[in-house]
Amino acid sequence: MNEKGNLSINSENFLPIIKKWLYTDKDIFIRELVSNACDAVTKLKKLMIMGEADHIPADEAFSVHVVLNKEEKIMQIVDNGIGMTHEEIKKYINQIAFSGATDFLSKYEEKADGDNEIIGHFGLGFYSAFMVAERVTIQTLSYKEGAEPVYWECDGESEYSMSKGAKETHGTEITLYLNEDSYEFSNEYRAREVLQKYCAFMPVEIYQAKEGGEPEYQNVKED
Ligand code: ADP
Repeated sequence: MNEKGNLSINSENFLPIIKKWLYTDKDIFIRELVSNACDAVTKLKKLMIMGEADHIPADEAFSVHVVLNKEEKIMQIVDNGIGMTHEEIKKYINQIAFSGATDFLSKYEEKADGDNEIIGHFGLGFYSAFMVAERVTIQTLSYKEGAEPVYWECDGESEYSMSKGAKETHGTEITLYLNEDSYEFSNEYRAREVLQKYCAFMPVEIYQAKEGGEPEYQNVKED
């Protein structure tokens, strides 16, 4: 199942635009990716309550992990939520990019004053990753019984490729190979600052860790 495609629309390549977009607020990528990860967990919990995921252990501990590798300039966002099938990646990652990007491009010129929320409104949340990363990969396995793991990657230009993945447990692992201007986010102090700024109140336990290190809890505890 090796597959390649092109993310450009109407001869315009939207990833370079995303990369420049909101340059000063590029730290919002963390909000977009961590909230996607939390949504994926919330969706799976709901399916379990509805009795539609009985093969998942009832006592499964759900969490989102942000894993940093300062030497390699990598940030990973890992959840154990619903994951995605091959079809779902095509529909939610590849195609949303097309339809979302068409709207986005038509609005972006008139709104070029930098509306912070604009990127989320066009279903381009995931693609905000390309503001900070030169390459993004996804390893995902759907919670569905018998699902096959999927690998997706995109170099931030216009081509993506998909193939058989390696993930063995349900959920999604997004790896950001940070660009030169964004190495700061692989630093634990900077990453913690951004997580505290945008993610402290999210409804799933969020941990930050250095690769191979001890995870550190990041949410604000409710009294
Ligand atoms: P939005 O979150 O606004 O729908 P995104 O571009 O951020 O737009 O994400 C598009 C879709 O991709 C999501 O709606 C979801 O279906 C899927 N997706 C993104 N991240 C994950 C994830 N970590 N786990 C499962 N599905 C995801």
